[in-house]
Amino acid sequence: MKALRVEKKGVAVREVEKPQLEDEALVRVIVSGICNTDLEIARGYAGFLGTIGHEFVGVVEQSPDATWAPLSA
Ligand SMILES: [Zn+2]
Repeated sequence: MKALRVEKKGVAVREVEKPQLEDEALVRVIVSGICNTDLEIARGYAGFLGTIGHEFVGVVEQSPDATWAPLSA
């Protein structure tokens, strides 16, 4: 899967391993926005290195309970 990563040299889309989650939902992102917080992180103001992005629309692929059960085809 792909992820938008903040690295020491800038921002890049990288191939990353699919997370193995036990008590969280896994959401396949369909579309995503970029907000001012993302821009500040990308510019290095927060000192954060890693995957960013928190404003998106997606489909639940995996869920620990029926509350967020994946849609059946
Ligand atoms: Zn935001």
